[in-house]
Amino acid sequence: MRASRFHLATLKETPVDAEIVSHQLMLRAGMIRRHAAGIYSWLPLGLRVLRKVEHIVRQEMDRAGALELLMPSFQPAELWQESGRWDQFGPELLRLADRHQRDACIGPTHEEIITDIFRREVNSYRQLPVNFYQIQTKFRDEIRPRFGIMRSREFIMKDAYSFDLDQAAMQRAYDIMDRAYVRIFDRFGLDYRAVSADSGAIGGSTSQEFHVLADSGEDAIAFSDQSEFAANIETVEAPAPAAERAAPAAAMETVDTPGMNTIEELAAGLGVTAQQCLKTLIADAEDGGLVALVLRGDHELNVLKAGQLDGVANPLRLAQREKIVEILGNDIGSIGPIGLDIPAFVDFSAAQLSDFVCGANQHDKHLINANWGRDCDEPVSADIRNVVAGDPSPDGKGQLKILRGIEVGHIFQLGQKYSETMQATVLDEQGKATYPFMGCYGIGVTRVVAAAIEQNHDEHGIIWPDTLAPFQLAICPINYHKSDLVKQAADEFYDSCRSAGRDVFLDDRPLRPGVMFSDMELIGVPHRVVFSERGLKAQQFEYKGRRDASAQELPLADLGDFLQRIFTD
Ligand code: ATP
Ligand code: MG
Repeated sequence: MRASRFHLATLKETPVDAEIVSHQLMLRAGMIRRHAAGIYSWLPLGLRVLRKVEHIVRQEMDRAGALELLMPSFQPAELWQESGRWDQFGPELLRLADRHQRDACIGPTHEEIITDIFRREVNSYRQLPVNFYQIQTKFRDEIRPRFGIMRSREFIMKDAYSFDLDQAAMQRAYDIMDRAYVRIFDRFGLDYRAVSADSGAIGGSTSQEFHVLADSGEDAIAFSDQSEFAANIETVEAPAPAAERAAPAAAMETVDTPGMNTIEELAAGLGVTAQQCLKTLIADAEDGGLVALVLRGDHELNVLKAGQLDGVANPLRLAQREKIVEILGNDIGSIGPIGLDIPAFVDFSAAQLSDFVCGANQHDKHLINANWGRDCDEPVSADIRNVVAGDPSPDGKGQLKILRGIEVGHIFQLGQKYSETMQATVLDEQGKATYPFMGCYGIGVTRVVAAAIEQNHDEHGIIWPDTLAPFQLAICPINYHKSDLVKQAADEFYDSCRSAGRDVFLDDRPLRPGVMFSDMELIGVPHRVVFSERGLKAQQFEYKGRRDASAQELPLADLGDFLQRIFTD
């Protein structure tokens, strides 16, 4: 591609409303443009990267034996009513009616449609196993679309669905996808981890997520320092401490704590550690009332675990402040479990404390040296916190470390959930109608692009792995429009790269070298070759890899070999 024929739309300024690096760089490089919250166009530069992601995904899915098809975005409500998800799915499902007032939705996922296809197309065990996939646009009306295409409302997903006669065969299909995902993420050239995960709204039991590691990741993942254990923090158990609780040492007192509303303010004000304080969160109960969730001050609530407790509304919702004040007669800053008149679940490690600090259920007052069993009943304890670094690994081997990740893929075993609800049967070897076992396998194709940038960038811009780069090589001729020697060398090299099947970008704009270089760095081209009159006269060209600290002068005679060397694929 020649710059003069391309729409290179780089921006100098960092857009103010872009919070994370990948979003800033995608806008600055001219890869995407925003139209509304979570709604983006992909400009030609961005689309080139997206197509590379799709290409790798498609090749590996095909290689794993999956069959590509294409399903609609517009999905009739009847299918969702059959599966029961028309009522279960929350406001993320964009519902609409057509001109005949027929209800429909814009697909956030395609289990219903694929099951409908399956029940019409496949009748016999002889047609199994089968795995259908597509690379297609999804719509989810996310409550908080953010970070550009990282969490957008419209995005592209690769979704695959396997159908098998029994559980063991479903497990084999799942394992094949697991291996295909490893090949896909290896080929992306990204640092990633597969971790066990929660199955969420899609349903099913066994599931694994694939995370690209990056500090800005929305998910926390826990790893053992001594075993293969790795899981999304949402799902990791934090068992009750084995040690006995220490006996109370001092009498409980009420103290004034004006303006101390957070754990940090309280700990600083009273000269104690956050570990010694209780944090009491109030959530909606299933019956419309309230329920208290009590944690140690330095711990975070695990929403999935707490949502599963008896009597707690699931999915978990923290209660509105007005409702808390109305029912408890007190504001959130000084609520505590002692004398509290609603059901309470106390995290195991909070239940382990003695002589702790907690809210006194009176405005601007807290209790110090409070003790379970002495100053109130023994607590109803449960595991409701996120694990933290240093907690024991649930497999009994080693301690946990926590890293941040971006979820780019998710594979699930669905079992018979959709085949049963939607009456999709096949005849088994005995001629008996049976419900097949399904698996489903997603990759956030658009999100992969942002995740790759989060992991690979510097102060000058994006640093693409070779396999995802919009252009593999940039040719920057100095004085292309003034020097015949330079023009000829650049054009010849450009042509030979193209005949070798390389994605090469010839910057034939009449610009100063510094401007060309910074554009190529910003858009992340991994390799750069410079031709100048001075260099050519000395039979040399200049090369710089995007991660190299400085450029090197190389003999012109080696140009052909050099091309071979940098492209090792
Ligand atoms: P998340 O937890 O990030 O909301 P999810 O669990 O809802 O994701 P899945 O239903 O497993 O997502 O979808 C498969 C993949 O699609 C995810 O792994 C993710 O990479 C991608 N994805 C999901 N939601 C979005 C979104 N709003 N924007 C971009 N990609 C998304
Ligand atoms: Mg998921």
